[in-house]
Amino acid sequence: MASTTALVDSPSAGHFCGGDDALEEELRRVGLEITRLEAARARLIAQAERSGVPQRHGFGSTTGWLIALSGDPHGVCRSRAHTARALVHMPRVRQAFAAGVLSEPRVRMLARTRDTDPDAFTRDEDLLVSHARALPASEFGIALAYWRRLADTEGHLRDADRAHRTRRLHASITWAGMVRVDGDLDPEGGATLLAALRSLTDPAQLDPDDDRTPTQRRADAPVEIARRHLDTPHRPAIGGQKPHLNLTVDVASLRGDPTGTCEIDPVGPVPPPVARRIACDATLTPILTHNDTPIAAGRATRIIPPALRRAVAARDRHCTRPGCTIPAAWCDAHHIIHWADGGATTLDNLTFLCRRHHRHAHTDHPRANAPPRQRE
Ligand SMILES: [Zn+2]
Ligand SMILES: [Zn+2]
Repeated sequence: MASTTALVDSPSAGHFCGGDDALEEELRRVGLEITRLEAARARLIAQAERSGVPQRHGFGSTTGWLIALSGDPHGVCRSRAHTARALVHMPRVRQAFAAGVLSEPRVRMLARTRDTDPDAFTRDEDLLVSHARALPASEFGIALAYWRRLADTEGHLRDADRAHRTRRLHASITWAGMVRVDGDLDPEGGATLLAALRSLTDPAQLDPDDDRTPTQRRADAPVEIARRHLDTPHRPAIGGQKPHLNLTVDVASLRGDPTGTCEIDPVGPVPPPVARRIACDATLTPILTHNDTPIAAGRATRIIPPALRRAVAARDRHCTRPGCTIPAAWCDAHHIIHWADGGATTLDNLTFLCRRHHRHAHTDHPRANAPPRQRE
């Protein structure tokens, strides 16, 4: 313990002097000490609860007392209290935890598992501790799920029903114009999503010059899945219209004027270069306005007629950036000279680009696709 304190308090805190092996050894040693300290905390919490300390200090629950004492969030404190209480009845787990050989997250998992059937847990505690020590995290979780199923078949089914009932997804627009996504999926739905995400983020399929981080690739994957869904012809209509990405932009903005109307419904304003990229390959509905009030709307037409799009697809077959093999069906047709700058919508002026390379085309080479400096 003394040397841990010395490391943290040292003037060169944050810098460990020693080779890679010594650093790894030090990290293991610190981890072991942290686990032992967490075991000590659990013992103290159990002792305090047993002797009624929280109530003597005016708290209705051990969780409330821990929140006041530590400032840690409610969920963390509730879980600590629960684990401390369960450890009283799990002598083998308690022993391994105190020795630092069973980490706190695994002890927490075991404490939750014990709730399924405390008597069966006591019977199998030795076996469960040896699994906890030997198996990697994911396999240990699966082993516990199997144990729960054997210990309480009906309860396991109830858990599955509850997981399905409590599935949820929130998607909300933040003040910064981002869309925050948060939720819980049941095992079947979650596994389906993970399989779909994996199919779009598989490192083996990656373009070597793909500079996105794994987190960014994961963020792009559900967006790509949503785009492909919106591009399918047989999706249901809402309010008489097939849902799609809706951009309202005036002609001046498309030519680079930063002061005009340029927004994505319902998220809010976007910079004109983003509008230029979206408008490259879109369906256009001209709206006539008078003093900013719409007075008439024209017929919606695809900027690139389907037959021409098919011709570009037959020629390019996939994204035209070197080494990129994203198929044409998942690409945007990019105007080499933007139609807003007078570029023609013809085979010669169109090229297929995947979303990532289309973004690059409009950001990395702004001059190649920038509006002319002077227009008559
Ligand atoms: Zn484009
Ligand atoms: Zn590409």
